[in-house]
Order: sequence, then C-alpha cells, then structure tokens
Amino acid sequence: MPIRTLPVRLSLGSETPTTAVVNIADWTLFERVKRGTIAMTFCWCGAAIVLPIPMVHLVVPPVLILLGPVLFMWRLLTHSSFKEVVGRCPRCKEERTMSMGGRVQSETNVFCDGCGNQLTLRLEQPS
Ligand SMILES: [Zn+2]
Repeated sequence: MPIRTLPVRLSLGSETPTTAVVNIADWTLFERVKRGTIAMTFCWCGAAIVLPIPMVHLVVPPVLILLGPVLFMWRLLTHSSFKEVVGRCPRCKEERTMSMGGRVQSETNVFCDGCGNQLTLRLEQPS
C-alpha cells in the first residue's frame, strides 16, 4: 500500500485557514479485492447470524445479502482513500494527527480530535 502525501488547507467558518498534509493510501488490485471480500464476508456472516431471529429474518438477511456485493464493488472501485491529515487545527491551534477515511476528493470533512469541530479539508491545487 503506497502512501503519498498532498498539501491541503483546513478551514472552519471565520477562523484563519491553516495548511496541513494529508496521507493518501493507493490500494493495489490485490488489496482492493481483499478489502471488498472482507466487507462482503461481514455482510453475509451478519445475515447468517440474524437468520434465526423471528421477524428480523424477513428483512435483515436479504438486505445484507444484497449489500455484500455492493460493498465489494465499492471497495474494488476505490483506488485510493484518505488515511490521516497532519496539521494545525484552525480553532484550537494545536498540531494534530487526525485519522480519516473515504474516497479521495477535492473537498471533504474531517473532525478535530481536540475540539471536536468539523473542519473542511480542501486539496491545494498544484501551482
Ligand atoms: Zn481543533
């Protein structure tokens, strides 16, 4: 899993934006298949576990059985995802390492571990 870093800008309302770096994981094909298989296995195991529960077995197992392949494809098609952002929070002014996830996109949200505020993360355009 190669990790690359990109400069980002963290902003929060009227606070002065700060610069930070975000670590992005680039998943290999094998890792994407593995991640998808794990997600699908959890869904199908969850379906098997709730199968003996009356009334619940009418709704939850079909949903989980259908959700498994959807999550498998989602994970398979996710080529890279955010891992963590290292930088100074605009509100509490502390240097922090904030873990995060999700697909790589030009703008997303991350929560500060110290003050709990939702920060807006924007990838800085290379100039
Ligand atoms: Zn903060």
